[in-house]
Amino acid sequence: MDFGPVRRMLSHKMNDSVVVYACNDKPGYVLKFFRKTGNDYRCCRCKELGKYRTITVVHDRVIGRKSPEVDHHPDCEPLPESSVLALELDREMRQDVRAHGKRPREAYNEMLSSVAKRFKASQEQVSNCRKLTVL
Ligand SMILES: [Zn+2]
Repeated sequence: MDFGPVRRMLSHKMNDSVVVYACNDKPGYVLKFFRKTGNDYRCCRCKELGKYRTITVVHDRVIGRKSPEVDHHPDCEPLPESSVLALELDREMRQDVRAHGKRPREAYNEMLSSVAKRFKASQEQVSNCRKLTVL
C-alpha cells in the first residue's frame, strides 16, 4: 500500500537522512523518521523511547502494509508541524550561511520573508520562527 508522501529535511548533520510524514489521523501533526539503511526509516521519537518502529520509503512515498501512524510506542506522540517547520528553517538557514557565506542576519531575514510563500505559514508559525535564536 501507498500511504502518501514524505517531505525530506536536513538532519542535524546537514544531510538528507530525515523524512517527515504528515499525519492523516491528526491534521497539523507530523512524525519524523531517520534513515537506517536503504529504504528503511526509523521513528525518531520511538528510538528515544526504546522502541524499534520503521517504515519503508520509496521515491519519497511511504510503502507498506500498515499505516506509518500506527504501532508506535505509547508515549510517541506526533509533533506539531509548526515546531518541525521552525527547526527545519533554522537548519536551512544555517546551511545557507555556510554554503553561501551570507551573514547570519541576512540569511535570517530572507528565511522569514520566504516562510509565508513557501509554507503558507500562519502567523503562529512565523512567530515560532522568530523565537529561534540566531547563530
Ligand atoms: Zn514513533
